[in-house]
Amino acid sequence: MPPVTETRKDLATRWAEAAQSGARAAGYCALEHHSGRASCTRTPGHDGPHRDYYNGRTSITDVPGTQWSE
Ligand SMILES: [Zn+2]
Repeated sequence: MPPVTETRKDLATRWAEAAQSGARAAGYCALEHHSGRASCTRTPGHDGPHRDYYNGRTSITDVPGTQWSE
């Protein structure tokens, strides 16, 4: 694998870990969606499906966001 690809992957991994720990610190469940494009914004230990209110919306007025189960 070329060095530039490894660097990019490493940065993406670090960014994802930082984002997830930040979300947990902010009081989110923060479970990552299997697509990697969403993380749960509900409270830790919540009931029912996980939901990301911020990703998966086509506009700011779109309420549902991304919802999934483990
Ligand atoms: Zn969740």
